[in-house]
Amino acid sequence: MVESLWNDEEGASYPGDLGSRVYTSRLLGRDKSLVLHGGGNTSVKIRETNRFGEEEEILYVKGSGWDLETIEAAGFSPVRLGAAARLATLPRLSDPEMVNELRTAMTLASAPTPSVEAILHAVLPFKYVDHTHADAVVTLTNNPDGEALVREAYGDSVVVIPYVMPGFDLARLCAERFPAAAGPQTVGMVLLNHGIFSFGATARESYERMIELVRRAERLLERRGAWSLGRYPQTPETPADAPDPLAIARLRHEVSRAAGFPMVLVSDRNPRTLAFARREDLSRIAQGPATPDHVIRTKRLPLIGRDVAAYIQEYRRYFDEHAKSHTMLDPAPRVILDPELGLATAGRTVKDAAIAAEIYEHTMDIIERAGRLGGYRALPARDLFDMEYWDLEQAKLAKAGKPPLFAGEVALVTGAASGIGRAAVEALLSRGAAVVGLDIDSRIEAMLSRRDFLGLRCDVTVEGEVTAALARGIEAFGGLDLLVLNAGIFPAARRIAELPLAEWDRVMRVNLDANLLLMRLSHPFLKLAPAGGRVVVIGSKNVPAPGPGAAAYSASKAALHQLARVAALEWGRDGIRVNVLHPNAVFDTGVWTDEVLASRAAAYNLTVEEYRRNNVLRVEVTSRDVAELAAELCGPRFAKTTGAWIPVDGGNERVI
Ligand code: ZN
Repeated sequence: MVESLWNDEEGASYPGDLGSRVYTSRLLGRDKSLVLHGGGNTSVKIRETNRFGEEEEILYVKGSGWDLETIEAAGFSPVRLGAAARLATLPRLSDPEMVNELRTAMTLASAPTPSVEAILHAVLPFKYVDHTHADAVVTLTNNPDGEALVREAYGDSVVVIPYVMPGFDLARLCAERFPAAAGPQTVGMVLLNHGIFSFGATARESYERMIELVRRAERLLERRGAWSLGRYPQTPETPADAPDPLAIARLRHEVSRAAGFPMVLVSDRNPRTLAFARREDLSRIAQGPATPDHVIRTKRLPLIGRDVAAYIQEYRRYFDEHAKSHTMLDPAPRVILDPELGLATAGRTVKDAAIAAEIYEHTMDIIERAGRLGGYRALPARDLFDMEYWDLEQAKLAKAGKPPLFAGEVALVTGAASGIGRAAVEALLSRGAAVVGLDIDSRIEAMLSRRDFLGLRCDVTVEGEVTAALARGIEAFGGLDLLVLNAGIFPAARRIAELPLAEWDRVMRVNLDANLLLMRLSHPFLKLAPAGGRVVVIGSKNVPAPGPGAAAYSASKAALHQLARVAALEWGRDGIRVNVLHPNAVFDTGVWTDEVLASRAAAYNLTVEEYRRNNVLRVEVTSRDVAELAAELCGPRFAKTTGAWIPVDGGNERVI
């Protein structure tokens, strides 16, 4: 149940009227059962003196693009209150006109565009106004008896407004209805199928009224036996129950194809999601979002099961039925409920998929609680269509800008804990890919703490470990598009006359055999890469120009080079490109300690500095140089290149 998070000491560190507005907005944002991901909005009305010495009432309202949880004073747009409130007297106002009127009524040109609910905040005659989409409240209102339940929870302490699309029409309706229905007892306003408002003379009063109102809804749910959802049975799982990684990759392939661009697919498989996804009445209850602005994150309906083609057909039908002059958005599902996968969500980024998952986790609770109160009833398709295709909602998504090069794609890098491998992880992440990093060094597991990276300890020479690592990567991100084969060993120099077979075998196993394994086991997934699979093999200058004392290393890399060329031939028809990089003298890796570097330089009669740049261009080659080129090789500039080998060595006379 919700609780007030107000803390005097913490509150005191946010001085002034706007400061306390920032503080309690953040308190609302901290509780996910009140608002999720950019949902909800807040405001405060402050008297200020303008440049001419005149007093003006300014509405500071949440700016679009800000999240309540992390909002700062700069996230509130200052709008002249009179100008904003007066807009509600107009008979109609289009969205672009509304945005223009609000922006030109601001007192700070650089402030963000005011929330789409700014006019509504302006017409409510209270200093502080808070608005959330609290789970408990939308559980009551998404119900055939929604209004009666709200009355039962609140009596006449709130004004109830029927569902109208957010924006100008809602503000106008509230401007009309609120003064007529409000009395001295009014502390809030419920918008059916949408959310709740509270107000007060201070930030704390308005915030604590919000908490109290939401608690009353929760208590009603409790009285009706609809609050506690019980425990989900821990279904006995055998390895055979684990979803087939190939089936997940196929599903992700189809979803991406429907979208027209690659998407990651993140599975959340636990007793709760499995119990929901296995409900027999699922198609009847999983109707639509609990509050309309979730539709841009989750689409109106989840995909139940794996029939993507049927989902697309249904989406087209919904579009054709409601569209006027709209252009259809991509018809791919974002939320998938499957008896084996539980809840899976698709997104252009792992973050987007995680947002859809979090929203749907709340939606599952709302649906199940509402089910015990007489049934969950979402808004009709027409209203959700209007919201999904509302320019102002789409603008929220567009704010993210052009997606990065590998948005929605998944890469796997071996030897990822250091040197070129680690640099490749960073190069791929910075281009928008989700990355699985494998290394025999267990530090890989804690190397980066971000949800688009999965570090796994793995001995790539052991088939079972590679199979398991691939399965975990597929479960985390849905598929595999890019493979960077980097892991390798460089043993101490030894002449052929003294080279034991055991050492030869050890080098071959890591530098050659392991890569055969990785290629073979990755092939079925790379084949399903929505934009075509890409493999980059980190070879060595020793392939075209071997060195004495490095027989095992040079031979293993030469064989690897040949393996890659054969893969390029065999996999071309699967749309998979395979290219090789031949770096040389990359000294910022674990192999090259200061001592080794100094002794090698001395062997050539060079200073360390000269030795580092001992190439045609006299440049130092870093791990990052190699990694950036590896990433670019996977990009569109090389779309028509396969089977190539490219030196990254500053120019080597023996190679040229
Ligand atoms: Zn809202």
